[in-house]
Amino acid sequence: MENLYKSILIYGPPGAGKGTISQVLSLSESVFHLSTGALFRSIDPNSEKGKMIKSYIDKGNLLPDGLTVDLWHEYVEDQIKLKKFKKEQYLLLDGIPRTLKQAVLLEKYIQVEYIIVLQIEDTDKLIARLKNRAKIEGRMDDLDETILKKRMDIYLQDTTKLLKHYPQSKIFNFNADQKKLEVIKDVLMKFASI
Ligand code: ADP
Repeated sequence: MENLYKSILIYGPPGAGKGTISQVLSLSESVFHLSTGALFRSIDPNSEKGKMIKSYIDKGNLLPDGLTVDLWHEYVEDQIKLKKFKKEQYLLLDGIPRTLKQAVLLEKYIQVEYIIVLQIEDTDKLIARLKNRAKIEGRMDDLDETILKKRMDIYLQDTTKLLKHYPQSKIFNFNADQKKLEVIKDVLMKFASI
């Protein structure tokens, strides 16, 4: 138990604002933010590993669970060696676990303390936000509407199952269909003192 990294999980459909909320929470010295999407995109796309990862991402598919957890674990260990992540910090996990299998595989490494869920059902609004981000960040997987809808469907299916796996007392739901600062305010009302 003592060797497990205490973790905060953050969920929300693509475009819900996980990145924004995670950035805000990482202003706290006791939080280390880890986004699997960012982690996978940071792997050299010309390497064999990078090409394989890109083939999943570009189709809107999830990477295989075992591979995902292995890459994640390798990265966490690197961050510890580099002294970027300190074991007494909370790991803020954005994008993982995404499936029940990943949740089970991660139990070897993490102790889930809190789960933040950003709720927004307005798909058109999400798509508009993502297309805007695609222009700014050059994320091709955010441009194609069919792929975006597929990611949203996968999110709904997987997350619904996943959240049942955890004690309801650890889950905090927030309305993400508000202005950015309003969502931030709501989240900080609960987590400012972390
Ligand atoms: P979003 O949450 O907006 O769909 P992310 O940036 O978190 O986007 O992830 C982008 C892509 O990276 C996903 O569509 C998927 O292909 C891959 N990915 C990220 N996290 C995971 C994960 N835990 N398991 C499998 N694939 C993942």
